[in-house]
Amino acid sequence: MASSMLSVREALDLLVPQFSPLGAEHLALPEATDRVLAHAVTVQTDLPSFDHSAMDGYALARASADASVTLTVSAEIKAGDRPQPLAAGTVARIFTGAPLPPGADTVVIQEDTARDGSEVTLHSLPELGANVRGRASEYRAGAPLFAAGTLLGPSEIGLLATQGYAQVDVVRKPRVAILATGNELRTLQAAPAPFTIVDSNTYALSAALTRAGCIPVPLGIAGDDLSVIQSHVARGLACDALITVGGVSVGDYDLVSDALRAAAVRVEFHKVAIKPGKPLLFGVYDQGAHHVPVIGLPGNPVSALVVFEIFVRPGLLRMQGVRDVFPQAIDVKLANDYRRKPGRTEFVRAQLKYESGEWVAHIHSQQGSGSMSSLTAGSALVIAPQQRGKLEAGETLKAIVPTLPRRSDPAFAD
Ligand code: AMP
Ligand code: MG
Repeated sequence: MASSMLSVREALDLLVPQFSPLGAEHLALPEATDRVLAHAVTVQTDLPSFDHSAMDGYALARASADASVTLTVSAEIKAGDRPQPLAAGTVARIFTGAPLPPGADTVVIQEDTARDGSEVTLHSLPELGANVRGRASEYRAGAPLFAAGTLLGPSEIGLLATQGYAQVDVVRKPRVAILATGNELRTLQAAPAPFTIVDSNTYALSAALTRAGCIPVPLGIAGDDLSVIQSHVARGLACDALITVGGVSVGDYDLVSDALRAAAVRVEFHKVAIKPGKPLLFGVYDQGAHHVPVIGLPGNPVSALVVFEIFVRPGLLRMQGVRDVFPQAIDVKLANDYRRKPGRTEFVRAQLKYESGEWVAHIHSQQGSGSMSSLTAGSALVIAPQQRGKLEAGETLKAIVPTLPRRSDPAFAD
């Protein structure tokens, strides 16, 4: 039976392409932070748009001067001034950001000069064009600025501003429904009752969705009852994607797959050779142009978050038009042995520490899929390849690190 299970790679290849990029929305520039450009944008104006000085100093025509020469200072140009042509054989006092006067091509920094009234002596002469930021030296009008799919961070936002883009088209945020299932679940607000637990997965997944650039739409809790799950599913299918949690294993009260099929969700796979998270279900609901990927996550909190990281986030990033959607993996050295059986790709929870110049993964002693503490800040998912048996202390493996731990001191010495 195990051999008929999809590998993680096979399952990803089926799942990710089903998350189709969403349409665009038009946002004012500051609101577009951390969003993804929906369309390519071009350079509107040369950057810089005029030749200007990069330093405080003296502007001159390089060919008309020698070192040690004393020249007349015929003008003073501040940032924002409109410069007059430079009189031949003279220099202009110039400040950072000020436009170069016509006839000048080079700026001598003030540290290399001695000023005496209206004259200045140049101690040394730089190369032609030194300390000048030439028009269009960075971007030329008409050239591509950013491709569709570019994530807009501070420098992208700044560049868009230089180009006069007060609004941009970014991909709409996916609205993602979360449906918790299980008779044992109660809401965070409900009074504690014997043998019930708080539906923590809705909170954990909402947080994960927010970080993944999505709008979480919690549908609440459905008990283990087919018709109740079905009616919640119907609401969820109005969103851009639906995530269910729990009820997807092979127990008698695992009703999610029946409820999804009854709601006309086409189940693409159910079970993947992954640990934790084997019961993962993936389906698609199509109604006209409305194409909704549906993910049935196992209810164990660790399984749910690991499967989210490996499968759901890449899909949701693709939905947002991101080009490279898979997490980076880094080399880590194992601090301890880890006993395991081959057959599933395992994402082993470890605490990552930077020790003597390398990342060392201290494998968490509690690998149970209910042990949420194994996934708190600074944890890594060490990847045990499907066919690997026991992992050995000292060996190097790949790990996915959702957030690299920060350090107590700056990473530089001076
Ligand atoms: P299930 O996948 O429904 O078999 O659930 C597996 C385990 O996860 C059980 O111990 C459930 O009580 C727990 N669980 C299921 N759903 C949630 C949830 N929304 N929040 C916290 N724990 C859950
Ligand atoms: Mg359950």
